[in-house]
Amino acid sequence: MTPQEPTPEPAQDIRLYVLEPENWQARVKLDWEKEYCYQKNPGEDFFHRLVAGEVYFQREDERYCLNCALRRGIVTYDRLNWQHGTKKSRTNFPI
Ligand SMILES: [Zn+2]
Repeated sequence: MTPQEPTPEPAQDIRLYVLEPENWQARVKLDWEKEYCYQKNPGEDFFHRLVAGEVYFQREDERYCLNCALRRGIVTYDRLNWQHGTKKSRTNFPI
């Protein structure tokens, strides 16, 4: 048995990358104090609440849930984002 057997299929890569790491912090909500994501989901007319244990992203007073951070281009699954300028094209995301 070899110590590193190749896996038949590569596992899905679900790592996340912050496009402006100098500006955003990944945080975990520790309490049940009412705090809301700064963005609404498309088609919804309310801001959704962040709950204890939820991972969110913060810049100063702005907080975004993971879904909205992905939609706004704050974070990405694209490991090579720094190679093809995702940072510059993030304004293409709908706000
Ligand atoms: Zn949100």
